[in-house]
Amino acid sequence: MYGPKTKTERIIPVKLSMNSEFSFSCDRELACFGKCCKENHVILTPYDVIQMKQFLGITSDEFLFLYTTLGKIEATDLPIPVIKPREEASAPCPFLTDNGCSIYEARPVACRYYPIGAGLFHNKDEATNERFFAMINEPHCLGHGLSQTTTVEKWRQDQGVVPYDEKNAAWVEIVLKRKSLGPFITIPDKTLQMFFMASYNLDAFRRFVFGSKFLDVYVVSKERQREIEKDDSALLDFAIDWLKATLFGEGGIKIREQKASPDSIE
Ligand code: SF4
Ligand code: SF4
Repeated sequence: MYGPKTKTERIIPVKLSMNSEFSFSCDRELACFGKCCKENHVILTPYDVIQMKQFLGITSDEFLFLYTTLGKIEATDLPIPVIKPREEASAPCPFLTDNGCSIYEARPVACRYYPIGAGLFHNKDEATNERFFAMINEPHCLGHGLSQTTTVEKWRQDQGVVPYDEKNAAWVEIVLKRKSLGPFITIPDKTLQMFFMASYNLDAFRRFVFGSKFLDVYVVSKERQREIEKDDSALLDFAIDWLKATLFGEGGIKIREQKASPDSIE
């Protein structure tokens, strides 16, 4: 899921586990400083968008418009925002400055994982989702072999990855479920737009919930309404529950007694 940051890197096909050891250090004194942020192709998860737009003090609509372009999640028709490079020829990430990443505290999970590539796959036989990791070894990156040995698990903790993986987990399950349905099931455009809004554009989703007939159609307790009115993290959990109900008929969000149908929400 959190794949290569660039299109040109070489991934050594060695499967890593949480306990796999490696030696890596990133330092601004290295000659390669910032090179990993050029030619970038950073995909953004729902929790990335929350953290980045809050750090920048803008809405999710503004963030997506200013800083992202549209990609597709591999092997699905599901949309995903990708950081839009600057327009000049070398096309570096718009957040890269001479001093490094200008949003370092809110950098996306793919950047946090680097030089590890990470993902989940659905094991159909055992009906489980399994994590996998791989080392990304780009020729320009001089950090390999430096510093003391660490493990994938320790790297995830040191780089602040864990809360991102936890917060995105239910959304990743939706993506895996969509993948498991195969390419011959198509999702209508309107549903794909809903998926995009509920996954990444939470300010628009909040307006949809509170500014349409949504609450006439779905049962949402007053307590949960209060939670999601202000808190983006709680709203993301709610949005994922709603996507599960809408896409797969699962989850805890119920439709009111045929007062209206989901199609009547405007
Ligand atoms: S060591 Fe690798 S990750 Fe660090 S700045 Fe250099 S290229 Fe980027
Ligand atoms: S968000 Fe920061 S760390 Fe990630 S590619 Fe851009 S400048 Fe580099």
